[in-house]
Order: sequence, then C-alpha cells, then structure tokens
Amino acid sequence: MNLTGKTALITGAASGIGKRIAEVYAEHGAKVAIADINLDAANATAQAIERSGGRAVGVRMDVTDEHEVDAGVDAIAAHFGSVDILVSNAGIQIVNPVDTFSYADWKKLMAIHVDGAFLTTRACLRHMYAAGKGGAIIYMGSVHSKLASPLKAPYVTAKHGLIGLARVVAKEGAKHGVRANVICPGFVRTPLVEKQIPEQAREFGITEDEVIKNIMLKDTVDHEFTTLDDVATAALFYAGFPSNALTGQSMVVSHGWFMQ
Ligand code: NAD
Repeated sequence: MNLTGKTALITGAASGIGKRIAEVYAEHGAKVAIADINLDAANATAQAIERSGGRAVGVRMDVTDEHEVDAGVDAIAAHFGSVDILVSNAGIQIVNPVDTFSYADWKKLMAIHVDGAFLTTRACLRHMYAAGKGGAIIYMGSVHSKLASPLKAPYVTAKHGLIGLARVVAKEGAKHGVRANVICPGFVRTPLVEKQIPEQAREFGITEDEVIKNIMLKDTVDHEFTTLDDVATAALFYAGFPSNALTGQSMVVSHGWFMQ
C-alpha cells in the first residue's frame, strides 16, 4: 500500500490510534495533517514525523465546530495541494448507566463522534469531488459498532451510527471514486481506555485486573489487547485500496471478540 502523492487528514491524531495511523501513513508516503483539539500535542506529533523524514502539519480542529472544520480542511488542502484521505477518528468515552446519564454528557459524546464525522466528511468531500481524483474516507468505529456493553449508551449509539453514515457516503461518493469504510477495533491501550479501567472497577465493584480479564478481554480468542499497529494496518489497507470494490464496509479488528 503506497500513499505517495496523497494527503491524509486524521482527526484526534495527537494521541493513541490516530497518532499511530498518522505515523504509518507518513511512513508509506502520505503527507499527513494531524488535526486535534490539542494543538500543542498535534504540533509535537507533526514535528516528530517530520524529524523522521515524513511530511506533516499540526492543525487545531475541534471536530464539533463547523467553522473550525471547514477552515481547517481548506487550510490543509491549500498547504498540501489536496485532501485525498480522511480518517474521522477523534473520540471520547463517558461511562454511566442510562438512567443516570446526564443529557449534557450524552450531547457532548454524540457531537464529537457523530457531528464530527459529518462535518469533517462534508468538508473533505467538497475538496475530493472538486479535484475529481477520488478519495478514501475511514471512520473509527468500534466493536461497539456491532454490539453493546452496559454503561456505554451514547458511545454504542454513535458507533453504530457511523456504519450508516459510511454506507450513505459510499453510495453518494461512488461516482466520484470516493470510498467510505469503518474500522471496528477491540480494546486498545490508549489514554481513552486507561481511563475506563478504574471507572469500570468502581462502577461494578471489582478490581482493575478483573475489568481487564472479565470484561475487556473476556470474549477475545487469545485474551490479548488489540494494538495500535493492528488498527493502523487496517487503516492503511482501506486508504490504499484502489477501487470501489471495497466500500460501505466495516472491518472488525478485535482478536475475535466479535466475529461477523
Ligand atoms: P485517545 O484519547 O488516545 O485520543 C483521542 C484524541 O481525540 C485525543 O488526541 C483528543 O485530544 C482528540 N479529541 C477529543 N475531542 C476532540 C474534538 N472535539 N476535536 C478534535 N479532537 C478531539 O483515544 P483513542 O483510544 O486513540 O481513540 C481514538 C478513536 O478510536 C475514538 O474514536 C475511539 O472511540 C476509537 N476506539 C478506541 C478504542 C480503544 O480501545 N482505545 C477501541 C475502539 C475504538
């Protein structure tokens, strides 16, 4: 999979999964825009990629802010000459039972995952359609795009929703050569997951080891966490796949936690 000549915009790329995807895309020739609400961390990631010989730029982008997304995507297209790949990856997690979930937290989570996916998709499609060179849109779903867990109502709702969005974008984008797909990782040890371990231990009244063993990795085939490289390899495959044969799909990368 060679991404030379392509520009990739990756949201939430200052940390975790998005950061690793940016590094791997740069290693495979792409120019990468590290878009994140945390500009200092985005710039640090971009600088590290440039020091390793890649092309990268950090961009402050709150994916829930329509104007910031539109202006940021325009600036990236002007800086690198195109936007060919979008990885809509920015995300958060908030855990609570439905009956005590605050509406403010529900809206915050839905805004980042769903509104953010819509706004970045819309802004990138405008450039992709105008350039007429096709493109790849990749949504960071989750095993929770396929199944549910307690305490995660908005997350599960949002991640299921991304599959619907990808299917619509696949249908509309086809005549422009734009493909849309979803990656559905199992648990990866990023800050987002590290935070959940003590939270779930408290909520369920069990130890942190029990959260890992009896909840997070219980249904995997080998009791292993999914790694950053596992997810980045899947993201590289979707980005580099050359035709509309692979569009509107979702790929589960979860050590067999969910099998479809
Ligand atoms: P992370 O916390 O390491 O990184 C998330 C990044 O998103 C951070 O850099 C943060 O600053 C950024 N971000 C948060 N709100 C933002 C906003 N409004 N605008 C722009 N950037 C924002 O988390 P991660 O584990 O790497 O998660 C990345 C994606 O992968 C998320 O969509 C998450 O739901 C998904 N995911 C993670 C796992 C896992 O186990 N870690 C599993 C399945 C799916």
